[in-house]
Amino acid sequence: MEKVVSGIRPTGNLHLGNYFGAVKSFVAMQAQYQCMFFIADWHSLTTHPKPENIQNSARTILAEYLACGIDPQKAPIYVQSDVKETLELYLYLNMNTYLGELERVTTFKEKARKQPDNVNAGLLTYPTLMAADVLQHRAHKVPVGKDQEQNMEMMRKCARRFNNIYGIEFFPEPQNFYFNATALKVPGLDGSGKMGKSEGNCIYLRDDDKTIRKKVMKAVTDNGPQEPNSQRPEVIENLFTFLKIASTPDTYQYFDEKWNDCTLRYGDLKKQIAEDLVNIVAPIREKIEEYSSNTTLLDKVAKEGADHARQSAAETLNEVRKIIGFRVY
Ligand code: AMP
Repeated sequence: MEKVVSGIRPTGNLHLGNYFGAVKSFVAMQAQYQCMFFIADWHSLTTHPKPENIQNSARTILAEYLACGIDPQKAPIYVQSDVKETLELYLYLNMNTYLGELERVTTFKEKARKQPDNVNAGLLTYPTLMAADVLQHRAHKVPVGKDQEQNMEMMRKCARRFNNIYGIEFFPEPQNFYFNATALKVPGLDGSGKMGKSEGNCIYLRDDDKTIRKKVMKAVTDNGPQEPNSQRPEVIENLFTFLKIASTPDTYQYFDEKWNDCTLRYGDLKKQIAEDLVNIVAPIREKIEEYSSNTTLLDKVAKEGADHARQSAAETLNEVRKIIGFRVY
């Protein structure tokens, strides 16, 4: 079975964009592939977080992913910093990676621009740590967003270069993987194109019913349909996207017809979306609360995930050491 490895950035709570755009696919993938997910806490050190935030955010994310349906028996979840083998591979990969190519990575240039007083070596070698995360499991596929394509290219370069230097086909070149043929973009409800933390327009999986209803009812709209069968402006199309994601095809068709014959009332449309989203989010939120209060279970899941990942990485690193010429005890 092909191996799929994906990292999760420990940045804040999951929102509907994360859920519909990524996590739902992870849940479906775990049945078809040998998946492993990790919480990228080493990567977060580039911005020097406080110790208590590191531990809390790992537990927060773990609780949310479990509540969404990731089954750690099928797809182990581990915390990156629990698997020290990664660092050894990171060192080897850094020895084969050139300053110029790391400096050309767009995400590095962007971050260097955003935090000019903290352009540290970890920021520069972010792509080689990411490559070590995946290559240590000799994974074939990595589910990634568009922003990660260049880092994926670096990862393949690391694999290829290692294989070439030692004249051995050892690392597979991991491929970008889109579980759904077309990437789903969850829009913002504030008229912006995308729901996202930095946009401040998110509906979170931890939001209560009242908050969800309030956020949906505040969605930006216009004066309503003016002519039969007209094209929908972007803000209205965004609402229909939510309908497509959260409601049944019959409901979508009902409102689509109302739009087309100019009898659509946005209040009704929003109420429908709000109720359908509440029905999706409420059971997940309840599970998040349950998991969050069970830190013993969360720590057990992380420990088992770490054991699994460590074993997988250690097998690879033993081979890597032999290939490079180091001793293996
Ligand atoms: P982020 O929380 O921005 O790091 O996003 C993590 C992942 O969630 C991304 O790589 C995407 O796959 C997914 N994602 C985030 N926001 C959206 C969105 N508005 N629509 C679809 N997918 C999203």
